Order: sequence, then C-alpha cells, then structure tokens
Amino acid sequence: MVADNGLSQPVTSLKGVGGKVAERLVKIGVQQVQDLLFHLPLRYQDRTRLMPLGALRLQQEVLVEGTIQLSQVKFGRRRSLLCHISDGTGSLILRFFHFSKAQQLQLEKGRKIRCFGEVRNGPSSFEMVHPEYQLIDAGKIVPVDSELTPVYPTTEGLHQLSLRKLITQALASLENGLMPELVIPEARCHNVADFSLTEALKFVHQPPPDAPVQQLIDRQHPAQKRLAYEELLAQQLTMKKLRQQTQHHRAPALNPDPAQREALLNQLPFPLTKAQQRVLTEIEADMSKPFPMQRLVQGDVGSGKTVVAALAAIDAVSAGAQAVMMAPTELLAEQHFKTFTQWLTPLGMKVGWCAGKQTAAERRQVLEQLKSGEIKVAVGTHALFQDEVVFNQLGLVIIDEQHRFGVHQRLALRDKGRDVDTMPHQLVMTATPIPRTLAMTAYADLSVSVIDELPPGRTPVTTVVVSDGRRQDVIERVHAACQQHRQVYWVCTLIEESEHLQCQAAEDTATTLQDCLPDLKIGLVHGRMKSAQKEQVMTAFKSGELDMLVATTVIEVGVDVPNASLMVIENAERLGLAQLHQLRGRVGRGQIESHCVLMYHAPLSENGQARLKCLRESNDGFVIAQRDLEIRGPGEVLGTRQTGLPQFRVANLLEDQELLTVMEQAANKMLELAPDKAEALVTRWFAHKLDFGHV
Ligand code: ADP
Ligand code: MG
Repeated sequence: MVADNGLSQPVTSLKGVGGKVAERLVKIGVQQVQDLLFHLPLRYQDRTRLMPLGALRLQQEVLVEGTIQLSQVKFGRRRSLLCHISDGTGSLILRFFHFSKAQQLQLEKGRKIRCFGEVRNGPSSFEMVHPEYQLIDAGKIVPVDSELTPVYPTTEGLHQLSLRKLITQALASLENGLMPELVIPEARCHNVADFSLTEALKFVHQPPPDAPVQQLIDRQHPAQKRLAYEELLAQQLTMKKLRQQTQHHRAPALNPDPAQREALLNQLPFPLTKAQQRVLTEIEADMSKPFPMQRLVQGDVGSGKTVVAALAAIDAVSAGAQAVMMAPTELLAEQHFKTFTQWLTPLGMKVGWCAGKQTAAERRQVLEQLKSGEIKVAVGTHALFQDEVVFNQLGLVIIDEQHRFGVHQRLALRDKGRDVDTMPHQLVMTATPIPRTLAMTAYADLSVSVIDELPPGRTPVTTVVVSDGRRQDVIERVHAACQQHRQVYWVCTLIEESEHLQCQAAEDTATTLQDCLPDLKIGLVHGRMKSAQKEQVMTAFKSGELDMLVATTVIEVGVDVPNASLMVIENAERLGLAQLHQLRGRVGRGQIESHCVLMYHAPLSENGQARLKCLRESNDGFVIAQRDLEIRGPGEVLGTRQTGLPQFRVANLLEDQELLTVMEQAANKMLELAPDKAEALVTRWFAHKLDFGHV
C-alpha cells in the first residue's frame, strides 16, 4: 500500500537512530519512518518576530530583545538572579534560580540580550523564568528565524531537537514519493480544503516563512483541519471496528416473560415515562438478538434509570439468565441492592450482594450461589470484576454511572460472562450528558438511548451562589428549612486528594454545625465509615429521623432521598460542573420545591464565576455539559482515562465539532467501499494505541 520510498522502513534506517533512541521512539508510538510524519506538532513557537516589551501579554511565548539595565542577586526564600531589561517601549525581568558565576558576570548592565520564553506575572512586573537567551554584540545584526518552530510531544531522554532532526529526515523521504491517500473521495468532507495529505504533512511540520502564524498557532489552518479530519475518521473507524468485532460474538437471544415485567410495573407507585418506555423497548429488542447488546443509556440525574435497569434485569432472569448490576461506589451499590431486593424478591428472584467489605463467610456463600445460579441478580461494586466471581448463566451486565469506570473495565466485565465465543449483553448507564457530537465519538462502539424526559411533577431546583463570608446566613437558612420539616444535605469538599482529609473535614463540619444548631438531628456519612454504619445513617436520613446529612462527595452519584430539598455545597468552585450538577441532582427528586446553595471561597476567578453562573441558570444536564466543554475543553471534561478516548494528535474535539457531524457517514462509506483503506487508515493513526487482540 505504501509507496516504496523508505517510509515503511523501521526508524533505525535513519541516521542517528540506534537501539536506545528506537526504544524511546516506541514510547511515543514511532516505529516506522512514516510514523514520524504522523507525529505532529503539539504547538508552535514563534521566533520569527521580536515582540516589543511594551506589548507583552501574560502567558505568551515570545521572542524579545532589550538592554540590561540592572543585574542583581536577590536573597529571598530562594536565591535568584534578576536581570532587568528594557527596549524603550517597556521592561521585563529575567529570573534565574540556577546560575553560575560566569553567567552572572556575563549578564552585565548595558549588554544587549535576546530571549525566548513565557511571559509570567512576577511580584512587581512581567517576568521570564529561565528563558533561552543569547547575548548580542553591539552593532551586530542577528536575524530572527524565518519559520515557526514546531514543538513535538516527546518522552524522557528524547530531545525536541533530536526529534526535529529525525522528522526532517523523514520529510526528506517524502520528496521521493507521495504519502498514499487513504480517504476515498466519497468520504471526504466539504468543510476541509483540498490539501493533499503530503502537502498537509509538510506544511504542519515545516510551515513556510509566509505561513499565517496566528492561524497555525490557533490550529485553524486548512492543513491542520485536513489532518484532523483524517485523524477523527480513523478514530471513528477504530470504534466501529471494535463494535463490529463484538457483533461477531454470539450472545444468548433472550426471550423474556412479559408477565414478570408487568408484575413489577403493577407494584410501582408510578407509571413509566414515555422516554423510559422507549428506552426499555430498545433494550429488549437488543437482548432478543443472538449477538451482544452494547447500549448506553444516557439520562440526566433523576430521569429514572434505575427502574429501567431493574426491568432489563427482570427480562434477563425471566428468560432464564442471570444479570449483574454494578455501581461505582459502595453507597450507591447498597442503595441499588435494597431497591432491587424490594422489587425483585416478590417475583421470586433472589438478589445477591457482592462488595469489597464483606466477611469471608458471606462472600463464600454469595460466590457459591452465583455459581449455582440460585442468585439471579447480583448487585455490587467493582468487586464483581474479580476472577473468583463465576456465574452460572450470565446474560446481562449492567454498569451504572459508567463514566466512573474506564473503557477497559467495561471490556473486562463484558469478558466475564464469556465462554469461548458468547458474551453477555451489556447495558451501561450514565448521567454525564455528553453533547451529542461528542457522544458519537466517545461511544461510537455503543448504541445510545437517551431518557430525555424527567418524571412528571418535579420542580426545578433553584440555585443560588453565595460567598462563604455569608456562611452564618446559610446556617440560619438551613435551620429554618429543617423547622419546616425539610431535609438538608451539607456537602463538604476539599481539593486534597486524600480521602482521609476529606473525611476529617466532614467530621469537623458536622461537629461545628451541631454546635450551632443543637436542636437539629445531624448525621454524617463519608467514605471511610464501615458499610453497616453508613447504611444505618442513610436509612435514618431516608426515614426522616435525621434533619441534616453532612457528607463528602460520596453522595454524588445515585443517592435517592426524595424528601431532601435543600443542598449546601461548600467550596463549590473547586468541583467540575458535571460533578456539581450530579450532586445537585440529589435534591429536586420529590414534589417539594428544592434549593441548592453553592458556597464559594472568595475571590472567585472569572472562570469560576462563569461556571457557577451556568449552574445557577440551567438545570439541564446537556446545556451544562456543553458549557462545561466550552469553559474547560474536552480533555478535562471527558478525561481520556474515563472514556477511553484516544489522545488526539491534531484533532480537538471542541474546535472540530463541525467535522464530527459528518464523521459517522464518512466512516460508513469507508467501510462499505474501501475496507482495506479503512484498515490502513486506522493503522496509520492508531496502530500503537489500541490492542484489538483480546476483543
Ligand atoms: P437516576 O436516573 O438519576 O438514576 P433514579 O433511577 O434514581 O434516577 O430515579 C429518581 C427517582 O425517580 C426515584 O425516586 C425513582 O423511584 C423515581 N422515578 C423513576 N421513574 C419514575 C417515573 N416514571 N415517575 C415518577 N417517579 C419516577
Ligand atoms: Mg442512578
């Protein structure tokens, strides 16, 4: 497929690549010469123009020149050499923490210096810390670079400069031939200018002197778009391939007994919403097929995903299979266990519990009953992943709050019930409302159902944002609410990763609040409490015995206490929007009007203000997700670990959203008309990232 111009040779065919370098190159996904061409710049440095000191902006990476006005060693907390320069338009301080005597002497008053570095805020003015620098002799003219400098992602022991040299060598091989075009005309995108692949690659690695600098830096150049399109297409194909491969497996075609499902529906105090019914029908259609369902159910917090999961489990069991429901936290798993037990036991279906904190005897019994098939539905945490858990006839795997688990865990659990070539059906549920275009990319290997309707009678949560300077007012408000027999969550957050500190903070808060409000019954729940203890507190809160529950973010997912109608979140500015929306979803579940108080620690950054404002203005998970994406960018919102989304080289899910809309169709065209090219495209972009071997 690849023209014979050395591009498919191993990198060791290049000058300067021995065993050591080759090993390091493997780490960044480079094995063949052509892989270097697809190792694309992360960004560019602009050394083509001198920036006047008076025009500097924070965080810019710039080339500047000036005359040294003063050089002095400062002894503060850390000894540093400060070198003040100016150019007639403004001034700048160069700061060195490490410097030699010779350097210090060299940087003397009156010398002209040229530096490249990032502009930062110093105590008194803009600074550059450890800039690259060059002293310039009086009267001498030193030209600036004529081209942008690409900056590549690299790994330890592999310098930018060496990488640049290797890429230059690889580009030279391109002179003898062209990079084969793999995207067939039917799958091209009109929005992307018609650069050839070879032209686009040359352009982004070595932008010509007249290239539009800002456009390249902003990643808006057509050459970049051309490559981003191809990369996104390759990613889409990867996911589709993953999906196709699963479809080659068999799954038990389940033929449920509708009477059992009806029995639960008759028992429920409410009818299903239209959206719940529709999604259930989609699930049932999938499970009746002889190949594995892979369905994602998206539904905003409170949309009623649990009952849909329970009905799917009942279907599986009435069709003669076992089902398993897994949740990311023990607290949520326990709640599901209770709900499922209450719903399924009357139907004669035994529900089992499987979590980390169990006595050996309890665990042994559960394992036996899972193996014998006596337990029909197992509910638990990731303890269900363990090898010793063996099922008799696993037909359905349900994963709640899927975004908390990685793709790999998802695959691992799917492999659980697998013997030789059959697999269980898989249902994953998430409240993380990913904007549609993104979902198509993140979950291209899944079919997506959306519960786009909340049960009737819910009043939207009113959200207010207050500074923690008004903590006393908030406490009084909580008091008033409790006197009206409303229940309150008080959520403590800490940035520290340490769970220990988080729990400590929650304990302290509970004590302080109890002191302020002696007439209230206040409970505490956090991650380090024993299961039984936690359960006791949750039960007391649910039954109305407690007025207030002080908690860490353990209550973020899934907890369901309809009478709780006020939530206070401390240090709200430290949490992500999606997380805040989830937390807030704990209230507004009943008929009572609910409130959420977002308390922040002043001063609030501009970004922080924008984020909290967004929550105040919207209760719609999809709107919030879209805003979150705009404010924080897709990397942070999705987190590659959470979604299994590959790290992109040129593509950017936010900026390239318009490309995503045509992606699905383009991928289908590729698979239909040129499957071999589709395959080659995936290899070109993702060969080293994904191991299809075990799927
Ligand atoms: P989530 O989608 O966040 O997991 P849950 O499944 O916990 O939501 O449901 C939230 C609450 O709504 C629960 O108390 C549940 O019993 C209730 N509920 C679910 N479906 C309906 C419905 N169709 N009508 C009324 N209440 C419902
Ligand atoms: Mg839930």
